[in-house]
Amino acid sequence: MSEQLLKVLLEEIKFLRVICQGCHTVIELPIESIGEKFADQRCPFCKNSFTVAGVVPPDPFHTLALALQSLQKISSQVKIEFVVPQEQG
Ligand SMILES: [Zn+2]
Repeated sequence: MSEQLLKVLLEEIKFLRVICQGCHTVIELPIESIGEKFADQRCPFCKNSFTVAGVVPPDPFHTLALALQSLQKISSQVKIEFVVPQEQG
């Protein structure tokens, strides 16, 4: 069985979609905004907590934004690709 893969370069990723599992609201925003948008680590709509049990700050949204932005800045030195398997019908 063959598998088709979708490869997305990190530097091509400009927006993230955050899907609250409490109210199912989809929040799409630029990478650079996610740390600020989720600074209180809660869904801005239903206040569902986005904290990780047992983990103290730094919060995961801020950490993710920093990591993505840092890696994008050094894309001339290293390329990162996300690989998404696609099912063939
Ligand atoms: Zn919510």
